[in-house]
Amino acid sequence: MSANISLNAPPNSTADTLKIGGMTPFSATDYPGMLAAVLFVQGCPWRCGYCHNPHLQPRTQESAIAWSDVLHFLYRRSELIDGVVFSGGEPAIDPALNEAIWSVRKMGFAIGLHSAGIYPRRLAEVLPWVDWVGLDIKAPFDRYEKITGIPDSGKLAQASIDAMLESGIDYEVRTTIHPTLLDEEEIVELASTLASMGVNNYALQLFRTQGCTDDKLKAATTAGYPSADTIARVSKLFPKFTFRKS
Ligand code: SF4
Repeated sequence: MSANISLNAPPNSTADTLKIGGMTPFSATDYPGMLAAVLFVQGCPWRCGYCHNPHLQPRTQESAIAWSDVLHFLYRRSELIDGVVFSGGEPAIDPALNEAIWSVRKMGFAIGLHSAGIYPRRLAEVLPWVDWVGLDIKAPFDRYEKITGIPDSGKLAQASIDAMLESGIDYEVRTTIHPTLLDEEEIVELASTLASMGVNNYALQLFRTQGCTDDKLKAATTAGYPSADTIARVSKLFPKFTFRKS
């Protein structure tokens, strides 16, 4: 659990309006070094073909789980889990994120946040209450649209990296890679850009079919991709680098 909790700013919204699409009670893989519960917040305006949670892209009228039930669950498991991860969807889409994080942090849990950096302003607002961020960065910033389907989406991601680095928070920047979306040179180009921005913890994650609804992506082979040379070139750019195949 979080050791030093300093809460000196009032939240702006009510946590019980947070729209949750689902919850994983225990995860050892979503927050490095922590056993954590994962809350999946509804909603994302982007449309990445490789999205693992496309069912979370729309926001429904009601939250699938009442906030009071989430807090009750966390209270009962407080001795068994170290942290709570807010994931999605894109959790920063929700105006209630700030207070939801604040409420959970007040219970003593470390806070993890998964984001694609779609809402840099809200990301900057919640960072003071967050202990660790996993930030998904998708492509060289001028080519984001081919992944997200949204013009100029790279500018938002770029601003989010700046906000995250400026905050001094612990983080991992990661990129999902697929041979039809990013070629080897684009991987190195993106990594070089991130390193020049000051990113020092970077991960490449090979595309996984799990949850993906894009048949073309699923049908394409990833054999031999990325090359050992690409991994070596990227690895040299960061003090900490991880390549995940699954
Ligand atoms: S940004 Fe994340 S949640 Fe949104 S569509 Fe892309 S992969 Fe899915």
